[in-house]
Amino acid sequence: MEYIKLANLLFPHVTKTEEDIYREFPKRKTGGKVTRLGPSPTGFIHLGNLYGAFVDERLAHQSGGTFYLRIEDTDDKRYVDGAVETIINSLRFFDINFDEGALIDGEKGDYGPYTQSLRADIYHVFAKKLVAEGKAYPCFLTEDEINEIRAEQEKVKANPGIYGKWAKSRDLSYEEIEEKINAKVPYVIRLKSSAKEERFQVEDAIRGTLEMPCNNLDTVILKATGIPTYHFAHVVDDHLMGTTHVVRGEEWLPSLPIHVELFEKLGWQPMTYCHTAQLMKIGEDGNKRKLSKRKDPELSLDYYRNMGYHPAAVREYLLTILNSNFEEWRIANPDKDIEEFEFTTQKMSNSGALFDLNKLNDVSKDVLLKIPASELVDFLKAWSDEFKPEVGHIFSDRKYLETVLDIGRAEAKPRKDHIYAQQMIENISYFFDDMFKIEEDFPAEAKDDAKLILEKYIETYDHSDDQSQWFDKIRRIAEELGYAAKPKDYKKNPDQYKGHVGHVSTVIRVAIVGRTQSPDIWEIQQILGEERTRERLR
Ligand code: GLU
Repeated sequence: MEYIKLANLLFPHVTKTEEDIYREFPKRKTGGKVTRLGPSPTGFIHLGNLYGAFVDERLAHQSGGTFYLRIEDTDDKRYVDGAVETIINSLRFFDINFDEGALIDGEKGDYGPYTQSLRADIYHVFAKKLVAEGKAYPCFLTEDEINEIRAEQEKVKANPGIYGKWAKSRDLSYEEIEEKINAKVPYVIRLKSSAKEERFQVEDAIRGTLEMPCNNLDTVILKATGIPTYHFAHVVDDHLMGTTHVVRGEEWLPSLPIHVELFEKLGWQPMTYCHTAQLMKIGEDGNKRKLSKRKDPELSLDYYRNMGYHPAAVREYLLTILNSNFEEWRIANPDKDIEEFEFTTQKMSNSGALFDLNKLNDVSKDVLLKIPASELVDFLKAWSDEFKPEVGHIFSDRKYLETVLDIGRAEAKPRKDHIYAQQMIENISYFFDDMFKIEEDFPAEAKDDAKLILEKYIETYDHSDDQSQWFDKIRRIAEELGYAAKPKDYKKNPDQYKGHVGHVSTVIRVAIVGRTQSPDIWEIQQILGEERTRERLR
């Protein structure tokens, strides 16, 4: 077979050579790692994308390299309008920014186009090259024929797929091919696999040395439409765009042998692969399971924005699941910027990263504790403008809101009340008259005396009392009404008292904040002011 003649027959429109393409895509000069995110534009961006993007971003930016966005839209059925904006904006919110690629204001960088559907002519140059070298061929098998082959393979217990003797178009002569082409019979281009009966080794930056059997499949590289498959597009793009590290989900591991053979056939060096572990959670039955789009709202990135998680908290949490040594580092360096942590792929888990919302909440409490109240106000404002505009009035007095957010935060054992915006606004709602409501009942021990307790409290209330004068008065009221002045006395002799001072103060707390739990009441009264305090008591 004259392969060059065949290549010209199949790709008469391709006039460029591989050298022409190499001139258009010169090797990158800058050092540092080059990584990319290659999402399909389906409009759904999830925690797994963020997880991968975070690895990409850290590897690139920590080494002075480049992180770019490539839109992988070769599966044209799934294109959703506005999807690229969604991807970029969602990641930007978490402070993950691209240096290059298909960006909102157009393309940026010298290695474009960064959208695969615009790169057909480039893929064709290399498909033509493979055909010209006898390493790829046109395959005319119809879907029915492929189904028949599969049925036959099942019958004789052979592995499924098009390879070896099952690859019926491999042996067509030039004349047979020409005839079919002239008759416009549809065809795909397949890799002609060498089907080496051996195993190969490849280094994965997360998993270490992997050993796998060599590929034997005549994988499709160009579909009948001329559009490349993921396998081919990824190899061509990552080579030409100078990617040094391919970070992708472990679901791609089984096709790694195909990619390695493609690199070999094209005469290129594969880049470093980093196959990340699946995100898992502890399911309802106590067992680990994959996060699911249907069952787990927290898989969607929108969840974190709707709830109002602070991006810094999500980043901090992601690092705790990404790198096993991060928490230790954080304990040793409580005040360092997260950027200073040296992220490595070696410290990544390869057996399923466990995602846990409770843990995220704990991390978030610590992260928010370090953010000054004035910044928290800005953050809450931005969130509420988008998700809860009806609380806009709480921002009319910034100083007041800052004081509210700072309650108990300066103490040696600080309060960690703040987790995410929705919860924070809910939590501080009693500081605003229109949102204040009685949410809980008086404690059972003091319920019958509630009215009396409040009357006595108003009678003796002096807004200028300091904290200990104030509490002495509550103790006195407790004793007068038959409650123990100290909880431990009540615990020792429960029959002698109606309850203890805590029950009495809880009555006051419920009157003022509407709940049985809150920060220090004296402090709250000072913030609410005398008039408002008296009014609530009345
Ligand atoms: N388009 C592929 C996906 O969405 C990207 C895989 C890769 O990063 O290579 O899964």
